[in-house]
Amino acid sequence: MSYKTIRLRKGKEESLERFHPWVFSGAIETLPEDIEEGDVVRVESHSGNLLGTGHYQIGSIAVRMLAADDTVIDSDFYTTRLSHAWELRRSLGLTGNGSAFRLVHGEGDFLPGLVVDIYGDTAVMQAHSPGMHFARNTIAEALTSLDNGRVKNVYYKSETTLPFKASLDPVNQYIIGGFTTDVAIENGLKFRVDWLRGQKTGFFVDQRDNRSLLERFSPGRNVLNMFCYTGGFSVYAMRGAAKRVVSVDSSEKAISLTNANIELNFPGDNRHSAVAEDAFKYLTAMKPGEFDLIVLDPPAFAKHRSAIRNALRGYQRLNAKAIEKIAPGGILFTFSCSQAISKEQFRLAVFSACAQTGRKVRILHQLTQPADHPVNIYHPEGEYLKGLILYIE
Ligand code: SAH
Repeated sequence: MSYKTIRLRKGKEESLERFHPWVFSGAIETLPEDIEEGDVVRVESHSGNLLGTGHYQIGSIAVRMLAADDTVIDSDFYTTRLSHAWELRRSLGLTGNGSAFRLVHGEGDFLPGLVVDIYGDTAVMQAHSPGMHFARNTIAEALTSLDNGRVKNVYYKSETTLPFKASLDPVNQYIIGGFTTDVAIENGLKFRVDWLRGQKTGFFVDQRDNRSLLERFSPGRNVLNMFCYTGGFSVYAMRGAAKRVVSVDSSEKAISLTNANIELNFPGDNRHSAVAEDAFKYLTAMKPGEFDLIVLDPPAFAKHRSAIRNALRGYQRLNAKAIEKIAPGGILFTFSCSQAISKEQFRLAVFSACAQTGRKVRILHQLTQPADHPVNIYHPEGEYLKGLILYIE
């Protein structure tokens, strides 16, 4: 197989030699005339040394590297990468029947541009690059070959993740199989996952470990789960013997998903209630001392670098409201999933919020994403989830 070749400008091979998986457009000296978006390309240094193979696309990230040599990118390639990803999750104890976990975390699984979440026997697949979009059928086939055919259905959901280009025209649909069940298991708890209409792939598997930690803090506490979405934290708090759990989200849809998940695990349990309300409004109106365990897990405030300043102000404002109102001896779980914001910046925003209230605050845990969202050490950009557990006197 001979792929088209992209030659880099002088000195621009350094980051690839350090295994960073992206080539920026400014590093490219020559593009082959007949190159098309999504093509598999060879990348060469200025002096003609092979640096690796990747997917080409138009934009600031021009090539996402798939291999550091001249590996052929075919069905065997995807099957091998996916089996390695599966093996890692199996070794983490995540692949039990019916379970929910992330199988492919882009660069963290050496498959830049691809995300795959597993919910029971369904894989929900998202392409973030044209190359992965064109490879979707091959990838879907490879997914069904894993672990003796554990995955029966592959739902492709890339309408919002691909760069908008008329030529791509992605349609959200089952590539293989169809609907079987939408219930997936996480740490023995059941969750309805709505990949057809829900956000992202339908569920935030990245909070699994943090939800477990919340369960341990829950006994006897009055819990407020702000930005609850599918109610993940609420269900764990219920199992953790919380006295009362209130779930809040501005979306009515999220509130009904939360209620359904509580009902699925704790039918008729009246410790839980859910409210469709804006976070700032709810926190402003709430009585001081009403809750002694609060979760703040907002959507990404900064989707781009340009939004960082405003986002930091937003995190500060949100956290200050919760810290001001939480009962003495309260525990705050606070998160940021904005990739553009570093953990130092987030911590500084939370620090400013604490200082604003004047309360005595200590950090009990520093949180991040779980092991099925691995970070390629040569690609620190893959680390995005940050959290703190605070003890507030
Ligand atoms: N904690 C959730 C994930 C949260 S996703 C989990 O563990 O799965 C972010 C949620 O914030 C979405 O459900 C969205 O509807 C909600 N949201 C966005 N803006 C909001 C606002 N201003 N007030 C309350 N909820 C908001």
